[in-house]
Amino acid sequence: MRGGSGILKQLMKRWKLVVQRTIFNLENCPNDCETSCYSCMNTYWNQTFQDELDRNKAADILRTYLTDPVEEETIPANHKQERESHSATPPERGFEVILKENRIYGYETQKKVDLGDSDIPYTIPDFVFKEAKLAIFTDGNTFHPPNRRRDKLIDMLLEDMGWKSIRILNSDLDDPVMQQIYLKEITKRLSSAPR
Ligand SMILES: [Zn+2]
Repeated sequence: MRGGSGILKQLMKRWKLVVQRTIFNLENCPNDCETSCYSCMNTYWNQTFQDELDRNKAADILRTYLTDPVEEETIPANHKQERESHSATPPERGFEVILKENRIYGYETQKKVDLGDSDIPYTIPDFVFKEAKLAIFTDGNTFHPPNRRRDKLIDMLLEDMGWKSIRILNSDLDDPVMQQIYLKEITKRLSSAPR
């Protein structure tokens, strides 16, 4: 899914339909609830203010939105990218989204990997596939700010232990070609894991 997949554009195009369907769903709650319930408006994310939710009021409000949307201003390009990009989240979270989108599971996060070295006794990659001996680091995260010399040493120590290390640049997270390259490297490693 590249940068939000243009959902805003699609929404603008089908605005009235979306609003109509939403009103319909609100008015036809399967539970026929009084104000709101988990079949209509409630979600995990709004549980702190569910007392305030009322599906009939919401439908009334939505009826005032049944007009064709008018474009008032264009979102500046860099702003737009910031809103929609994977890098809008911390890099390690951004990459986790990509892993999940590609149904790659079975990793551990914040997992210590012993390096058996006196100077650098261990490292904590962002994602560890223990069986496959694969360590993934995303740069610029909170746990290890980039330090090329140290990173190189860690990679060598990992390699000596039969591990593979993949370092993902934050700036690559929004590049679909780079994403594919990383994913290919990861799946290749996972499917040919050393035993
Ligand atoms: Zn309901």
